[in-house]
Parts: sequence; structure tokens; C-alpha cells
Amino acid sequence: MKVGILGGGQLGQMLAMAAKPLDVETVVLDPAEDAVAGQVTRHLAADWTDPAALQELAATDVVTYEFENVPSEAVEKLVVDVPVHPAPAALVKSGDRIIEKNLFNDLGIETAPFAPVDSREDLERAVDTIGLPAILKTRRFGYDGKGQVVLREPADVESALDAIAGQPAILEGFVPFDREVSVLAARGRDGELKYWPATENVHVDGILHISRAPAAEVSNALLAEAVRGLEAVMAHLEYVGVLVVEFFQVGDRLVANEMACRVHNSGHWTIEGAPASQFENQIRAVAGLPLGETEVERFSAMINLIGEVPPLDRLEGREDVFLHVYGKSPREGRKLGHVTVVAETRESLEVKIEEVFAVVGDRSKSA
Ligand code: AMP
Repeated sequence: MKVGILGGGQLGQMLAMAAKPLDVETVVLDPAEDAVAGQVTRHLAADWTDPAALQELAATDVVTYEFENVPSEAVEKLVVDVPVHPAPAALVKSGDRIIEKNLFNDLGIETAPFAPVDSREDLERAVDTIGLPAILKTRRFGYDGKGQVVLREPADVESALDAIAGQPAILEGFVPFDREVSVLAARGRDGELKYWPATENVHVDGILHISRAPAAEVSNALLAEAVRGLEAVMAHLEYVGVLVVEFFQVGDRLVANEMACRVHNSGHWTIEGAPASQFENQIRAVAGLPLGETEVERFSAMINLIGEVPPLDRLEGREDVFLHVYGKSPREGRKLGHVTVVAETRESLEVKIEEVFAVVGDRSKSA
């Protein structure tokens, strides 16, 4: 069994590493010469539409992706010759914030109020109906808080329009959330579904800082409702693979923000924190293997290493701390690695998180 992966960043690297013990071979396509998945598996350093590279991918058993903005032209060529999971239709939905939110609402999943914005008049009208504060985001290609601006008063319309520079956009009502929570699930080729406990996420400067799982304040009933939403999305898209939906928690409601049709940073803790990781189940799902177990008995936290990797020797050799350094060259705001901590109780997890922060720094304090 051989799986082709579009994109060769750290997600591709961790997918390739999860495939090995399953006896599944991998090959990644990524135009970047130094794509880090190339450190652990075969890397085709070629353009997305390079005929020879696409031919090699088409010769695998199934193709999946770790990067959602692959040109549709490349995927359209591949689907003729090889199964691609999740299906390209899923990427179209998740790639456009308006299509995505309409899908959520159609399937009974609550979102913030929103309106498309293609002109100044649209924005003024949207501010009238949605109210302020609100967030203007580009419809496409936004991630890690890029391409978005908060409007607090009517005069902010000017600067907001400048910030998105004429790109198609969406205005969203600002959700006064208590916390951010993501839910990850995997769906197999036969429709089997497994989900991990909800993960609580803290962002700093729009980039994920720390995830804790299971999320403290998400009741079984609330998780069940979120999973019902994911199940509806996955059934609708005939989805195969891992899907994540990011929610805002407001009291005992979960308001969907966005989804990603791939493994996700907020699921990295599953490598050590769950019997089967998101990477293992992504490979299992697309390869048609039975999904691994996702029920957890421990508490986990994942801390991102952003921009630079500090000396980690003080954390080495511990049985409850796991260091992941992706081998990427340092750059401001770049995800270079992560540290996962596991504990038997929520209280001891917090103690261990502080021990890790003492070594790697706590970005929420320096921000
Ligand atoms: P996104 O790119 O949609 O994931 O947004 C990045 C971050 O901005 C989120 O993780 C939230 O912290 C914040 N954010 C985005 N949309 C909203 C919203 N409608 N209300 C409140 N905060 C938001």
C-alpha cells in the first residue's frame, strides 16, 4: 500500500512517520526544496502541476493532502487516475468561508452571523445588520489569523477595506467566547467514525499556542452535539480521513468557526495522548484500514514552538514530555516544533505545563 500526500510540511512529516509502522509507504509532493517531510520519506520537489510528479502520485493507491491550497488543476488531474481522499469537493467547501458557513447552517450547526462583502456598500450594509464589533476576513486563503481585521466602530470601515485590499470577504459577528475548542474525527472508507475528546485551544497573535485535552468544560452532551455536527458534515461530503471543526464555546453552546479537511495542529497531542493519533487514523482511513482507538485515559497538553527552538535539554529523557522538532529553518511566526506533556490528572498536567514553559517560554505572557 502506498499513499501519496500533497504537501510536505510538518503535517506530511508526521503522516509519513505514522504510516511506517502500518507498513504503508508514502511519497509527498511539495514545491519547496527543503520541505521537511523529505527528511523522513520520498519527496518530489516539483511544481504542483508538474506532469512527472503527478504521474508518480497517480501510480500510488490513494492520494491525500496535508495542505489545503493545492491548485485545483493538480487535484483534477489526479482524480482521473487515483482515489483522492478527502474528496476534492470537501476542499472547495472548506476553502471559502461563506460556502463553509452556509454548509454548517444547512446542517444545523450554529455559526456567528455573517454576510458576504465584495464592496464598500456591502460592508456598510453588513455592519448595519450584524452590528459591531465584527470581524472582516478574506473569504479564501486565511489561516493563523492572517487576512482579518476587527471593526469596533463605524469609522473602522475605511481601514478594514484597506486591509483586505479588494479581496472577496466575509463580515462575521464577533463571538464573545469563553474558550476555543476543536473537535477532531476520522471517518473510514466504510463510514466508520471515531472521534477524539474535545481539545481546548489558546491562540496568541492568531497562532495556536497551547492545546489541552480533554477540554475541561465540555460536557459529554456538548461533545455529542459537536460530533453530531461533524458526522453530518462528513456524511454530506462522503468524507474519508480526519476532519477538524474549530468552535467558540459560549456558555453551554458551541458556535462553529471553521473546519480543516486534514490533520490539524490542535490534534498533535494525540500522538502520545491517545491510543491512535490523528496521523495514524488519517493514514488508516484513506488506506481503507480499520480505524484505531481514540478514547483517552490521560490528560495531555501540546505547546507550539514558534519562531525559534530554545535549548530543550532540560526536558530530555522525561517519560511524560515529548519533544517534536520538525527541522525547519527558523523564521518569525513559523511553527518549528511542539512539546507534548501527558499526566494522570488535570492538576498534575498544569504543574508539568509550567515546567515546560520554564524552558520554552510562555508566549501568552510575552505577547
Ligand atoms: P480564524 O482564522 O477564523 O481561525 O480566526 C483566528 C482567530 O481569531 C480565532 O481563533 C479567534 O481567536 C479569533 N476570531 C475569529 N473569528 C472570530 C469571531 N467571529 N469572533 C471572535 N473571535 C474570532
